[in-house]
Amino acid sequence: MVQQNSGATETPIDAQQTDGTPNHLAPDLSTGAAWMNGRIMPIADASVPLNDWGLIHSDITYDVVPVLDGAFFRLPLYLDRFLKSMQALRLDPDMDRPAIEAALHGLVAASGLRKAYVAMVTTRGVNMVAGSRDPRDCKNRFFAWCVPYIHVIRPEIAQTGAHAHIARTVARIPSESVDPRVKNYHWGDFTRGLFEAKDAGAETAILLDAAGNVTEGPGFNVFSVKNGRLITPDSGVLEGISRRTVLDIAREHGIAAEIRPLPLSEFMQSDEIFVTTSGGGVAPISRVDNRVFSNGVPGEITNAIHRAYFEWATRPENRTEIAYPA
Ligand SMILES: *Cc1c(COP(=O)(O)O)cnc(C)c1O
Repeated sequence: MVQQNSGATETPIDAQQTDGTPNHLAPDLSTGAAWMNGRIMPIADASVPLNDWGLIHSDITYDVVPVLDGAFFRLPLYLDRFLKSMQALRLDPDMDRPAIEAALHGLVAASGLRKAYVAMVTTRGVNMVAGSRDPRDCKNRFFAWCVPYIHVIRPEIAQTGAHAHIARTVARIPSESVDPRVKNYHWGDFTRGLFEAKDAGAETAILLDAAGNVTEGPGFNVFSVKNGRLITPDSGVLEGISRRTVLDIAREHGIAAEIRPLPLSEFMQSDEIFVTTSGGGVAPISRVDNRVFSNGVPGEITNAIHRAYFEWATRPENRTEIAYPA
């Protein structure tokens, strides 16, 4: 461990002068910043080598934690997942948990962003042995970046409920091939689904597995509401932290939840549908293909859970406060 770790705690860019006043010569990081090798820079100045295996083989894992009102929301859960993902892929960038956490803190503090989308990424890196095809010869690389908060479903669309399209020409990549519980860049299936959805005039796509069960969409989990109960798929999906937050909220509110296979035919009989993502929390779906749900507006239970999500983000136990420079 070391070289990279030592960088994580240093003041990366002199956002302040020695007397504490802002340094107006410091680059503007408010539209996006990156952390690489202990240095913080404008996101446009950050780069990885062309032959990084993350780029040429999608050999990479990542995670995205939201910053809401100046604090990370449920950060320990995101770090747990990211560390597990790295372990599953045998990635070791020589950054332990405190070093990663310090990098994220320093990055967001330097950006000044109080509502942000914060990505942490580990790639297989560049192969250090000429001609080698052995993944063990790669030097794994960690970096992080943040930008102003991203909504996976645009907020003006989420207000009335989004139109989702069930992908027909592509199925979710089988779990036996790529473990969906490891957040990954294997987006070939999602991107095909998105093109299909956009061509059909829909906002986003939902993918099925080979058995015709609902899985998830590009960056979100799916919930069905039926007779006051929640149903969300058990397999073929990333175990989203927002999905978990919704399940925790449901427990607190006495709403029953089932985690099990969700056949498309049953899904299409839902009373309400919503999706969950760290990029927006809880977003209602009011139409799937040509079928309208909850009278074409966000359903009552969906609205209640949406409100609860942002209420949870104000609770001190869910917040890791960021120490911004004065
Ligand atoms: C990130 C992601 C989600 C949502 O997970 P959160 O932790 O709630 O942001 C769902 N599905 C996929 C494929 C994802 O990449």
